[in-house]
Amino acid sequence: MDKRVFIIGAGTAGLILARELSKKGIKTKVFDQKKKPGTPVTASGIISINGLKSIKTNYEETITNTLYGARLHAGKSVMEIKAKKPIAYVVDREKFNEVLLKEAQDSGAEISLGKRITEEDIQELSKQGIVVGADGAVSTVAKHFEMGNVESYVLTYKAEYETNLEDIQSVDLFFDKDISAGLFGWLCPNSKTILEAGIGINPGRYNSKAAFEKFISYKSTESKLKNATLLNEHASIIPMKLRKKIVDEKNNVILVGDSAGQVKPSTGGGIVFGGNAAIIASEIIQKYFNGDVSLKEYEKLYKKKFVFDTRVHKLLNNFYSNASEKSLSLTMRVLNNIGMSSFLSEYGDMDSPKTIIKNAILRKRL
Ligand SMILES: Cc1cc2nc3c(=O)[nH]c(=O)nc-3n(C[C@H](O)[C@H](O)[C@H](O)COP(=O)(O)OP(=O)(O)OC[C@H]3O[C@@H](n4cnc5c(N)ncnc54)[C@H](O)[C@@H]3O)c2cc1C
Repeated sequence: MDKRVFIIGAGTAGLILARELSKKGIKTKVFDQKKKPGTPVTASGIISINGLKSIKTNYEETITNTLYGARLHAGKSVMEIKAKKPIAYVVDREKFNEVLLKEAQDSGAEISLGKRITEEDIQELSKQGIVVGADGAVSTVAKHFEMGNVESYVLTYKAEYETNLEDIQSVDLFFDKDISAGLFGWLCPNSKTILEAGIGINPGRYNSKAAFEKFISYKSTESKLKNATLLNEHASIIPMKLRKKIVDEKNNVILVGDSAGQVKPSTGGGIVFGGNAAIIASEIIQKYFNGDVSLKEYEKLYKKKFVFDTRVHKLLNNFYSNASEKSLSLTMRVLNNIGMSSFLSEYGDMDSPKTIIKNAILRKRL
């Protein structure tokens, strides 16, 4: 086999992998069915600052807002978590993808846009080098190599509105059952003039558009959208669980990003997990070409890095998805009373519960 890598998908994960492999001098080609990958933008762009740093991308020019915290709503209860320092940025996802594409190109990756890669193409490419499925939740690569189904996912619906916003430092998250079984509803100030509203729900029980309509008719949402103008709206999907198989050693195939289900189950955020997986994959592919390790090492290392945090995020997701509205509301009141909001304001890390625990222990020792 040639020491070549073919990446299907020029989204976040595919482009980070292409950049990292090319930097290591590995011949890499990325394919995307879209002429302008990353458009239309169907996802949001909230990324923790630590997480953004970890994926080694020049994101500064893509920032549209800085977030300090969140207000969590369940029924009439609200819990506010607000840090003294910024905890996350909102990035313009279209610009973000443009930056990643340029970084991959500048590092030497070949990019081929505007043609959908078929299963026949994939079969052919796999004879010439490593094939990477970075082709999103509905992955043709995973299907072709029978790497299992996406076992859990939520359907999303989100819209952007033009309006004038006063408080743009916090995102509002809503856990009411009729709009958010499986994830939550959100109102995010993308900038001083753009407000994004969205919901994520389990498939089957509700229609995502209907749940979204319900969400924007909530009193609190309606009042924020009163004089707003709708700019765009999109439905999409978020995989919520790691695919059973993310490496096929026999055929030299791996999956990264949404195709692998590398997503934080408490929020559906996939940029940090998918981006880090791509960095790990680039290191393992280099070692594999040198004959030092097997491709399976990629799966092992990914799990080692993220399995604890993923489990805690999953527990959180299970809790808010399955608890009744009454118990969620009660839990928030109790957490407020025992000072949990100030604890999280001080120690919170959006991506890593491990870091919260570590920081809290370290702080106690000092
Ligand atoms: C509503 C919503 C909100 C979100 N909010 C956030 C957030 O705030 N923060 C966060 O971190 N994450 C968020 N996410 C998740 C995040 O957007 C994804 O995890 C991330 O985009 C996944 O990147 P990816 O590169 O794996 O896949 P994708 O971005 O899906 O890219 C896959 C690419 O593959 C291409 N492709 C697919 N099949 C083929 C084929 N056969 N041939 C050629 N090309 C193909 C597609 O055109 C696409 O460009 C959100 C997702 C949604 C839906």
